[in-house]
This record gives sequence, C-alpha cells and structure tokens, in this order.
Amino acid sequence: MINFQYARASNVADAVRLIAAEPTAKFIAGGTNLIDLMKENVERPTRLIDISRLPLTGVEETTGGGLRIGALVPNSDLAYHPLIAERYPLLASAILAGASAQLRNMASTGGNLLQRTRCHYFYDTATPCNKRTPGSSCSAINGLNRQHAILGTSDACIATHPSDMCVALAALDAKVHVAGPSGARAIDFADFHRLAGDTPQRDVNLGADEIITAVELPAKGFAEHYSYLKIRDRLSYAFALVSAAAALELDGDTIAEARLALGGVAHKPWRDREAEAALRGQPARRDSFVRVAELLLRDAKGFAHNAFKIDLARRTIVRTLSQAAAATPQSQAGKKIR
Ligand SMILES: Cc1cc2nc3c(=O)[nH]c(=O)nc-3n(C[C@H](O)[C@H](O)[C@H](O)COP(=O)(O)OP(=O)(O)OC[C@H]3O[C@@H](n4cnc5c(N)ncnc54)[C@H](O)[C@@H]3O)c2cc1C
Ligand code: SF4
Repeated sequence: MINFQYARASNVADAVRLIAAEPTAKFIAGGTNLIDLMKENVERPTRLIDISRLPLTGVEETTGGGLRIGALVPNSDLAYHPLIAERYPLLASAILAGASAQLRNMASTGGNLLQRTRCHYFYDTATPCNKRTPGSSCSAINGLNRQHAILGTSDACIATHPSDMCVALAALDAKVHVAGPSGARAIDFADFHRLAGDTPQRDVNLGADEIITAVELPAKGFAEHYSYLKIRDRLSYAFALVSAAAALELDGDTIAEARLALGGVAHKPWRDREAEAALRGQPARRDSFVRVAELLLRDAKGFAHNAFKIDLARRTIVRTLSQAAAATPQSQAGKKIR
C-alpha cells in the first residue's frame, strides 16, 4: 500500500489551485481507471483531489444549437439523456458499447477521455514500457501485440486508446473545455489526444495543472445516418479490436458529408480527412465504401500478432458506412432500429 493524501475540491478554481500546488497529485472522478492503476502500482499520486462533487453534471443547450456536457456527467446518464438519444444517437451507441452498466454508472465524461491504454505491459510493472517509464523500451513491439495499433505507430509505443465514447466524439467534431491557472480554453477534439511519437508518456494535450470542465457538441448530430460498430473478442465487457463511428449526410443517394473515426487501431481516435473528402459527392454504395477503406488504411502496418486488424478494419469500415447509409445503425440506443 502506497500512502497518499486526500482532498475534496470545493469548486473548479479550488481544484485548479490544489493541482497546481502539487504536480504529483491526481484528480479522481469515478475512479474506475485511476484506482485500478494505483492498485497495480502504475500510478502513484501523492494526493487524490476528489472532483466528483463539483457541479459539472449538467447537459445544456448552447447558443449555437449544440450541447455542453459537464465533465462529471456519468456515462450512463449521458447515453440515456433524451437530447443525446434524440440528436446524437451515434454518441449514445458508442457509450453503450463500452464497459458494463455498473462501470458506466461510475465513469465520468472527463475521466473517459483520460482513461489510459489497456496495453497489458503498461499494467505490468515487471516489464519495460516507454509509456510508464520513458526510455525503458517497448515490450509490445516484439511481444504479444494482438490488441495493438496499426496506424500512426512509433518506434517507442504501439498502444491504442481504449475509449468507445471518444471515437464518436471525434467523428462529431466535439470540443474539450478545460480550465487552468491561466484561465479557460477549448481544445478541438482532434487535437486533444496525441500520437505516441517519442513521448508516449503523454496521452493528451492537457496541462498537468488543468481540469476538463465540459465537452461541447456542435449542432450537427447526424441523427439520421449514423452507425457505431465495435468488433471485440466477446459481445460485451471487452475493449474494441477495431471500432468505427460513421456519420453521413445524404442528398438522395449521394454523400453530401461524411465523418468516419476508428477506435482500437491507434494511440488516439483515428480520423482521416482525406478519406472523408473522398466520400463527398460519391454514391452511398458499397464500392465507394470499399475504396475509402483502402484509402484510409493505405499506411496501416501490422505487427506479429495484429496484422489481422488491417483486414478487420477494412471490413468494419465498409459495414459501418453501409449501415449508416441504410439508416440501420444496429444500435440499442437509437430510435431508428429497423
Ligand atoms: C473492466 C473495465 C472495462 C471497461 N471497458 C470499457 C470499454 O469497453 N470501453 C470504454 O470506452 N471504456 C471502458 N472502460 C473504461 C472506463 O470507461 C473508464 O475507466 C472511465 O470512463 C473513466 O472515468 P472515471 O470517471 O472513472 O475516471 P477516473 O478513473 O476517476 O480518472 C481517470 C483519469 O482521468 C483524470 N480525470 C478524471 N476526470 C478529470 C477531469 N474532469 N479533468 C482532468 N482530469 C480528470 C484522473 O486524474 C485520471 O487520471 C472499462 C473499465 C473497466 C474497469
Ligand atoms: S505499446 Fe506503449 S504502453 Fe505498451 S509496452 Fe509499448 S510503450 Fe508501453
């Protein structure tokens, strides 16, 4: 047992003040990831700053027609919120594909964004891992890498980001609102998570003294043509081998706008603007989707045990886009199950 101090933040300014004063402290929200990492001795915060009672639990409409989701809204509440189920069913589907009901009740919106990789070497302190101990090497590159990345990998780390919710937020062009000692700022979702590069210890572009206060969704929710498909080893309670969030706007049978994000394949939710642009103006048909899958996966690289993910990703992209186009999202959350 490693000793740590505990403090409860009374408001956002207090939380920022506490973390800025002690860089080795950590915020705790639902605790579903942080406590596991502490039990495994991977995270060793000197102080837990409890933010779970801060008033960041609202889902409010913005003047721009979107929604602002407080960082402490539990994943379950968010998935079943009427405005999310009605206007952003892609997000509801992705959330409900993750974890279990009990975990979703505890897990917070902000914590979901900051959950750490499920690479088993990262959790095993007996093995080298550049993310846990920079410079120690990566055990996965020549090890058991079935779960690992095929896109945007580096020689330092081939871990994946495990979140389902974040794949949908990437496709929806969300923004992350944060507060720190020098004030508040908003980060585009595409810039929030990082590729591993040569600093795999840094998952996100968030200062150590900053707190996530909210996630903002733009007005466009793609509630007609969307699909979230998660391929995993078991039907529930397993992380994605590959997942895809697709959102389309159709003009007749022609694609007017396309969003496509992948999970389970990279260090961050993966979006490829060139592939999305290539879909615009194309007929919403299988051959267009096959071409875009080839384009998106042009630089994919497999390792000893995960090369199968390249073909799996190809088929997942085609199926997800086909389901979105047909308005058959195969979703438990949306209202348009046909
Ligand atoms: C068995 C199991 C299965 C799971 N399966 C899935 C799955 O299939 N799909 C999926 O997407 N997820 C899955 N999860 C992960 C789960 O969704 C995350 O653990 C959860 O979302 C984290 O939220 P939390 O509030 O509990 O975070 P915590 O554990 O409290 O915190 C996580 C990290 O975020 C930081 N933090 C939290 N809130 C803030 C904030 N507002 N500002 C700044 N920093 C903050 C903490 O300091 C910590 O570093 C699973 C988890 C478990 C244990
Ligand atoms: S893939 Fe990343 S997290 Fe996993 S062992 Fe290598 S450096 Fe560590």
